Amino acid sequence: MTNKDLLKVVQEHGSPVYVYDADIITRQYKRLTDAFKKVKQLRLNYAVKALNNISILQHLHSLGSGIDTVSVQEVKLGMLAGFTPDRIIFTPNGVSLEEIEQVAAMGVQINIDNLSILEQFGTKHPDVPVCIRINPHVMAGGNANISVGHIDSKFGISIHQLPHVLRIVENTGMNINGIHMHTGSDILDIDVFIYATEILFETAKKFDNLSFIDFGSGFKVPYKEGDIETNIEEMGEKLSKRFTAFQKEYGKPLTLAFEPGKFLVSESGKFLVNVNVVKQTTSTVFAQVDSGFNHLIRPMLYNSQHEIHNISNPNGKERFYSVVGYICETDTFATNRRISEIVEGDILAFSNAGAYCFTMASNYNSRYRPAEVLWKDGKAHLIRKRETFDDLIANQIPLEALNV
Ligand SMILES: *Cc1c(COP(=O)(O)O)cnc(C)c1O
Repeated sequence: MTNKDLLKVVQEHGSPVYVYDADIITRQYKRLTDAFKKVKQLRLNYAVKALNNISILQHLHSLGSGIDTVSVQEVKLGMLAGFTPDRIIFTPNGVSLEEIEQVAAMGVQINIDNLSILEQFGTKHPDVPVCIRINPHVMAGGNANISVGHIDSKFGISIHQLPHVLRIVENTGMNINGIHMHTGSDILDIDVFIYATEILFETAKKFDNLSFIDFGSGFKVPYKEGDIETNIEEMGEKLSKRFTAFQKEYGKPLTLAFEPGKFLVSESGKFLVNVNVVKQTTSTVFAQVDSGFNHLIRPMLYNSQHEIHNISNPNGKERFYSVVGYICETDTFATNRRISEIVEGDILAFSNAGAYCFTMASNYNSRYRPAEVLWKDGKAHLIRKRETFDDLIANQIPLEALNV
């Protein structure tokens, strides 16, 4: 997608708008499958929560991906996109027993991450195969950013509770067919990650009936200059070798599974906004755009730094800007950012806008959520209409309807 292509998308579909490049999703999918090509049975389950547009799901389906889901609604969305239950894994946290039962009844692989539900589910449905989510508690160098399933995490069953897990499994006669970990942190140090996988392998040996081991995700992609990216190729090399050796120890063929979200879709996305106002104050120059944390919350929520380019004037003189939104709230996208000179009416493009951007958007300030466009085969395709006023009021009930 060139700047010209992106400007045309804004002309055609308005702003703000999310645009996703299908080729980049394909490239990332291939990079992962190539890195693990020595593993006989590899399963990639795309994490739907990163970007849940049905056309994106269908594109990933066409590449051979499965999906990882965290709610029954994501399961239904996946099925609507064409995924059969055997291509779906359900990895929720803190959901009700009823929701887990509902998803299991649909024939989807479930993953349980606490002892209470494990015992209740196992007692009621001993024949349904269940994967368990382990928290390996590996900490690297005291840096919370590279900690793997740290001790305070609400996710997973602590590795120290394994004796209790085994007791539940024995007492209920339930069938454990998978072991899982997802740390939620970025993998920066591959050796630390491999260390965590050793804990998972040790755990796996306690169960005779496994068909897969799921290493979750945590693949890091670069957001800003100087960011480290997970070295997928090196990781593929090391883990594939170790995994193949472990299968021999285990004595049965196993599937190696991952559930990447960010890695597959982050870099495919651009978020395009229009500059409404350039405001000089005593301390800075604000570029105020027709969006806010209602549409892109990651900078405010996680302090993420999305690169911002002025695609209307890509080669202008660079100046320092604070890029902020138009909602009535402090909604800062970036401060002291060098951007090619901005005038009102310019279009700015945020990079890495594929993962956890649109899916976290809201209607705060009664604004519409943006349109979404898929760039595929050299053309722009609208894949989600911008909301309208009718969408805002669809579920609201005015007083006169209450007869009170
Ligand atoms: C969110 C999530 C993922 C995806 O994580 P990324 O960092 O986007 O790759 C994978 N597995 C589970 C269980 C998740 O909740």
